[in-house]
Amino acid sequence: MNLDLRTIKEPRASVRRDFSGASFSRDADDQYRVRDTVTLDLDVRKDGGKVRLVGRLDAALELGCCRCLEPFPWGVGVDVDLLYLPASDNTGAGEVRIEESDLRTAYYRDDQIDLGQLMEEQFQLALPMKPLCRTDCRGLCVVCGGNRNTTACQCVARWDDPRLAVLKDLLSQ
Ligand SMILES: [Zn+2]
Ligand SMILES: [Zn+2]
Repeated sequence: MNLDLRTIKEPRASVRRDFSGASFSRDADDQYRVRDTVTLDLDVRKDGGKVRLVGRLDAALELGCCRCLEPFPWGVGVDVDLLYLPASDNTGAGEVRIEESDLRTAYYRDDQIDLGQLMEEQFQLALPMKPLCRTDCRGLCVVCGGNRNTTACQCVARWDDPRLAVLKDLLSQ
């Protein structure tokens, strides 16, 4: 998943890469899974050792709902604007001057930009704080643990008391 800068001879080039969902290795406790093809569409601008990547990242991810714990599809489409500097510039006493100081800056070494790491970071930034399978997800029954979106368990009736509705909301979050 590297972008080999030696293959880019021009100061400006377009790079489009597709990655299959399977090429992203995920652990069971990760916050998301990659379901489908991920498309990275980048405009590469080289200026000496400085490399700016501007473009777009589109992916179909799968998140776990924070209320009912069920997996659900979640699409990501984010604009990317990153500045990469050679890692050697980041060591030693000299300070790197970056005019575009508002840009997010990362480092590369051996002429390789790690696109896998780039995408993981963008996904992490895009993830919702509280992933919900749907805005009105009813969550799990606090009594029997059943999924209240799909199961009408008997315990539900006990929560119909409006005075307990506030408590119910708290517990289902
Ligand atoms: Zn849910
Ligand atoms: Zn129940």
